Amino acid sequence: MTTHDITLIPGDGTGPEIVEATRRAIEATGVQIRWDVHEIGVPALEKYGDPFPKASLDSVRRNRVGLKGPLTTELGTGRRSVNVALRKEFDLYANLRPAKTYPGVQAPLGDLDLVIVRENIEDLYAGIEFDIGTKEAAEMRDAIVRLGGSRLREDSAISIKYISEFGSRRIAKFAFEYARANQRKKVTAVHKANVMKFSDGLFLRVAQEVAKGYPDIAFEDRIVDNMCMQLVQKPDLYDVLVLPNLYGDIVSDLTAGLAGGLGVAPGANIGENGIAIFEAIHGSAPKYAGQNKVNPMALMLSSVLMLRHLGERAAGDALEAAIAGVVAEGKEVTYDLKRRGDTSGVGTREFADAVIRRMQKH
Ligand code: NAD
Repeated sequence: MTTHDITLIPGDGTGPEIVEATRRAIEATGVQIRWDVHEIGVPALEKYGDPFPKASLDSVRRNRVGLKGPLTTELGTGRRSVNVALRKEFDLYANLRPAKTYPGVQAPLGDLDLVIVRENIEDLYAGIEFDIGTKEAAEMRDAIVRLGGSRLREDSAISIKYISEFGSRRIAKFAFEYARANQRKKVTAVHKANVMKFSDGLFLRVAQEVAKGYPDIAFEDRIVDNMCMQLVQKPDLYDVLVLPNLYGDIVSDLTAGLAGGLGVAPGANIGENGIAIFEAIHGSAPKYAGQNKVNPMALMLSSVLMLRHLGERAAGDALEAAIAGVVAEGKEVTYDLKRRGDTSGVGTREFADAVIRRMQKH
């Protein structure tokens, strides 16, 4: 039996609790894993004075697969988001976010089974920004006028959106390869090419080209605002969606909400040659830290994606079935999966215990 070396990043806030619950559930599948535990972000800054210790980054580089708890981002401090920086560091260009309803989870509009493939590096997230009142912003405004653009107000802050042919091609290919490997039938490219004719236009054109190489998978495109309405009204028409970074971020929170909320939404950040970091969509929910309260299901489902990525499909399926079983029964679930006013929710640890017991029974 193969032993997998995995970098384990506990994160902060409620991260360490959900990571520990998930680690126990993974081990109960019987898959052999050597955990290489490392800090990144706020805990690393506090311990080592550096949010990105070399030892942590080297561990991810060496093991190529990481499981990560959420990391708090300080808002408005000018310091770059550790989550965004990590994706850039390892060129984790594909953000995979399945949105699937499980019986027992209250989904506001009924069943859903979609996969969001979000480009993770480019677009407005590239961090090319010029703040109000700076010399750089003034130069940028002048350059825009020189290059034929319109004059911007002097009290403007500027963020640059860029989309490359390379980035569009590899994310479109990822979406089609994922669809093929997971028996999905259709890929929909989501954009605003009617307004952003060059950047989103390029994204759409490249997706159309890539689609020609996958005649077994249907292809279509939708404008992002229309897509949001359709996802609310008829989500069953959609299967795999591929989107540039910002639309992907927003639309995947919409689909996470439609599937039952942040507590149940898994994710993965995947790069070239198998490098990948698996994490829940939700953040560190700091107000619940240390209370053994929040739902570890989203990270557990992220670890299901990790097990499949490692080639441990049977273990991944067993873990997903056990989580689904506990949730369908609805007794030993955390507060967020109970009806409003029902205070019988169990803790993070107890949810993991129930999942583990269920796996041991089957
Ligand atoms: P959040 O996702 O941490 O929490 C918002 C609310 O969602 C919580 O108050 C809670 O009510 C609910 N929630 C979240 N996770 C839950 C869970 N597992 N079980 C039950 N309920 C849950 O969002 P936020 O408060 O906007 O962000 C907190 C911090 O996390 C910020 O610093 C943010 O930047 C960061 N963040 C990190 C990541 C990441 O590590 N990838 C992702 C998103 C946000």
